[in-house]
Amino acid sequence: MPQIIDGKAISAQIKEELQRKVAMLKKTQKTEICLAVIQVGSDPASTVYVGNKKKACAYIGIESLAYELPEETTQEELLALIDALNHNDKVNGILVQLPLPDQIHEDEVIRAIDPKKDVDGFHPQSVGALCIGQPGFVSCTPAGIIQLLKRSGIKIAGKECVVIGRSNIVGKPMALLLIRENATVTVAHSRTEDLKEVTKRADILVVAVGKPKMITREYVKEGAVVIDVGIHRNEDNKLCGDVDYDDVAPVCSAITPVPGGVGPMTIAMLMHNCVEAGTVRLE
Ligand code: NDP
Repeated sequence: MPQIIDGKAISAQIKEELQRKVAMLKKTQKTEICLAVIQVGSDPASTVYVGNKKKACAYIGIESLAYELPEETTQEELLALIDALNHNDKVNGILVQLPLPDQIHEDEVIRAIDPKKDVDGFHPQSVGALCIGQPGFVSCTPAGIIQLLKRSGIKIAGKECVVIGRSNIVGKPMALLLIRENATVTVAHSRTEDLKEVTKRADILVVAVGKPKMITREYVKEGAVVIDVGIHRNEDNKLCGDVDYDDVAPVCSAITPVPGGVGPMTIAMLMHNCVEAGTVRLE
């Protein structure tokens, strides 16, 4: 049977480490860390995500300021709030929950956040820094996957890694992080010819395709490590990933389950970025 990569346990470990670090910072340096969380509208999924982020802040000892804005908020109003938070010295991190209502341009909002407070790692300056190997915030889901691999004792350097998906928040930063870890990286997407041939080369296969259970054992090399980023609800309202877990698990050496794999790591890494924002100067 494969090693089951336990994202719940690893994320709990990271959150405990952060809790100790925050307590120490408060005691020795009188440093308080504060995250501003902005939600526009009341999309139920966003409300759950925002609630989980606030809970994680409380657990770690980070103050969270919640801004719940109405659905009809204009772009100017949102940008004005971000500007005020950029200039508020008490606030270390700013997070705008996506998606935003149609009248607001996501790209402009992301660009308006001061890169020093960009704890989601979505600002073009953060992405550019990652690309050229300079300090900056890294998108939380791919950063969490690197932690999952390292803390599960899986070697990345020198390995053949294939990432399925090239989105700005998962696929592309994932590929850049794997390169930073000295892997040989291929990025596959919807225009890739003969996807199975490409994915079967992978020692580590990261699947962020956004299609429930698409990846079956025909896509996986015997003994590969399989990381499933996908989150979906199946017909029985149960969570499942982009990987057909029951089919793939018997042929791989390690695999992340859904739920309990990549999912919990995203919030843990957001908390990590908040603590960094409060302690490290990114110039
Ligand atoms: P996107 O829909 O933005 O990207 C999907 C990518 O998969 C695209 O690059 C697309 O290619 C590619 N793709 C689609 N169909 C195929 C196909 N048949 N063959 C090969 N490639 C294909 O998704 P995200 O990156 O935002 O998210 C991916 C998954 O991860 C989703 O299930 C999402 O819910 C989940 N997710 C989970 C998170 C977590 O915390 N666990 C966080 C973020 C996302 P192209 O570019 O050519 O269109």
